[in-house]
Amino acid sequence: MTDTHSAIRVSEIFGPTIQGEGVLIGLPTVFIRTGGCDYRCSWCDSLHAVDKQFRHEWEMMSCEAVWQKVLALSGGRPLTVSLSGGNPAIQPFGALIKRGHDKGYRFALETQGSVVKEWFAELDVLVLSPKPPSSKMTTEWAAIEASFQAAQDKPQVVLKLVVFDENDYAFAKEAAARFPRLPVYLQPGNHTPPRPGDEDASVDVDGIMKRMEWLVDSVTHDNWFEARVLPQLHVLLWGNKRGV
Ligand code: SF4
Repeated sequence: MTDTHSAIRVSEIFGPTIQGEGVLIGLPTVFIRTGGCDYRCSWCDSLHAVDKQFRHEWEMMSCEAVWQKVLALSGGRPLTVSLSGGNPAIQPFGALIKRGHDKGYRFALETQGSVVKEWFAELDVLVLSPKPPSSKMTTEWAAIEASFQAAQDKPQVVLKLVVFDENDYAFAKEAAARFPRLPVYLQPGNHTPPRPGDEDASVDVDGIMKRMEWLVDSVTHDNWFEARVLPQLHVLLWGNKRGV
């Protein structure tokens, strides 16, 4: 029987594949995508892990069951495990991180920074990804700051910002100004996210790359030389397909 207090609500576990974005781009990774999110971004590309209508696809798994799945997928060879979602910060990951570290695995978490957990300090990489105005969400900067503090300078902490337009770009600059010590990763948004169950829906790669070019021009024009601009590599390779 699964202890519901320590159980992890899982939408899907898959890999190894490469991390497609941000600071760990290109790195072979196993993904644990959790179910449930306290946000509902207008352009969310993971609605199957957010919308309660997909709850029947999610599974409450014990730490041990999740760990065994990670071991099986990685063949027991230590690699990076990405905790994503939904909002993975909602789930109890402390025990899994300890279990994995004992065997040499590394853990990266990406979250919007709205929910803070003590176990952030046990991570190897914490990606804080506050959502810009185009998401229609409101960022609580105090919560992002609390997430940063919870990390206690132990994991590598970075900011990742999705940018669709000028307002989002201004938001990204504000985020960078609030956290001047953190490396910044900018990513052109995908305006053609999949509807759940429709992973074959086409992606407007040309449109995304035009936004990428605009973003590069903006950063260089503004002499924002600390920012890194990266596309979502998995979207360029596989479109909206799930589990890659
Ligand atoms: S925070 Fe992430 S998972 Fe949650 S709704 Fe927004 S984009 Fe989707």
